[in-house]
Amino acid sequence: MQPTVCLSFDFDAISLWLARGMNSPTPVSRGEFCAVGAVRVLDLLERLDLPSTWFIPGHTITSYPAVCDQVVQAGHEIGHHGWTHVAPNNMSREEEEAGLVRASECIQRLTGRMPQGYRSPSWDLSPHTVELLIAHGFDYDSSMMGHDYVPYRIRQGDVFEIDQPARFGTPGRLLELPVSWSLDDYPHFEFVRAGNTILPGLMNASGVLENWVEDFLYLKESVGAGVITYTFHPFVIGRGHRMRMLERLLRRLLDEGAQFKPMHEVAAHYRDATSAR
Ligand SMILES: [Zn+2]
Repeated sequence: MQPTVCLSFDFDAISLWLARGMNSPTPVSRGEFCAVGAVRVLDLLERLDLPSTWFIPGHTITSYPAVCDQVVQAGHEIGHHGWTHVAPNNMSREEEEAGLVRASECIQRLTGRMPQGYRSPSWDLSPHTVELLIAHGFDYDSSMMGHDYVPYRIRQGDVFEIDQPARFGTPGRLLELPVSWSLDDYPHFEFVRAGNTILPGLMNASGVLENWVEDFLYLKESVGAGVITYTFHPFVIGRGHRMRMLERLLRRLLDEGAQFKPMHEVAAHYRDATSAR
């Protein structure tokens, strides 16, 4: 597949802050800004005629139905992002499966079809997630980091113990469209103070733009075929200077010959090109 770009937007809104126990008015308002940012992003994607994939928690779908419907009407793919924004690894198997089913039903009501893709909140799968995604008919996950440019089949049956060599399982049916914190707007830009920890964020947007362009150019010039997946959050990227940077990024990628695809199309391509055992 010629150098391909996936634009993914995690529409967390208020759910991200609630999942962290931050439910006072200011963090909630920070989540509310997601709806403002989402409309700005949709406008930009429409002007440039670009497809994208939106991972939306059930909490956002039921709290902001009109904006979510706008995303669907614009033709973007809707992926699963949990019902709450609690990471699967912090839930029991039963809680995880119940949230999976509840959010899938929300997405089906919104789009008329079940989601094909899943992205875990906070990119932290549980030991049960892959098995549950397969059992519930998902085609791909986008939460892991085992490659930078090449989607791959997720192994099942891995055993990792600290005092033993890794024992790798066998690739299964579920495809991984890998991600990276370096290609995610959140750690670069978002200032978060929680307890004794501070995520500084607030990076200069031009510096981040340079990193993100260089990652695409390495794919194009040194790897050749492959996929780069950028992850954005409307409440992060929706601020003025970052929206201007995002437009510069997208125009540059277009100038460099990138083809843009929704993630389910990329998953279908790699499903045909790789075999599961
Ligand atoms: Zn999220």
